Amino acid sequence: MSSMQVIRPSDADEAFDGVRPAVSGTALAEYEVLVRRQLELLGEEPDREGLVKTPSRVAKAMAWLTRGYEMNATEVIGDALFEEGADGMVMVRDIELYSMCEHHMLPFFGKAHIAYIPDGRVVGLSKLARVVEVFARRLQVQERMTEQIAQALADVLKPKGVGVVIECAHMCMAMRGVEKQNSKTITSALIGNFRSDAKTREEFLRLAHGPR
Ligand code: ZN
Repeated sequence: MSSMQVIRPSDADEAFDGVRPAVSGTALAEYEVLVRRQLELLGEEPDREGLVKTPSRVAKAMAWLTRGYEMNATEVIGDALFEEGADGMVMVRDIELYSMCEHHMLPFFGKAHIAYIPDGRVVGLSKLARVVEVFARRLQVQERMTEQIAQALADVLKPKGVGVVIECAHMCMAMRGVEKQNSKTITSALIGNFRSDAKTREEFLRLAHGPR
């Protein structure tokens, strides 16, 4: 065990119904000091009325937005695995996701489309969105997040194949004017017969990119 203090979601975090991590008051307090200093460095006055509570709010928000570090796919899926002989493609499209890029700590957000072909067991559909949360609620790069989601589903479900397509807008590009504001980054990860079987791959990509 490392003795390093890490900020953790606070008890006030009611929206978080997954693994309850230990709350570290010391780390949250330290983070508040950092945010206060950050405000000073930006030329702000941390003591003015509008900013007095900002360090505390930011510390809690950041803890919540990175809660995925304390979650894993196996725990999130839990006992929502069911024996099932169906072997057609199962797909959930347009799963909302919000993450933060590790290069700028700015948000990127969009949608995930996930499909798999069962091999004897299926998972509750809402759990696919929960697995997205596990990996989105961290500092990320979209490419790695896409692979991690696909690999986690492959590990837990042991399906015949998994496909994940993610399309996101990145605030580090849009807000800084690096690219056109409406540009989207699209990434995909294909495992098992989604990779090896052209027909399966085509079916998945057609459904993922098809008309809404
Ligand atoms: Zn970035």
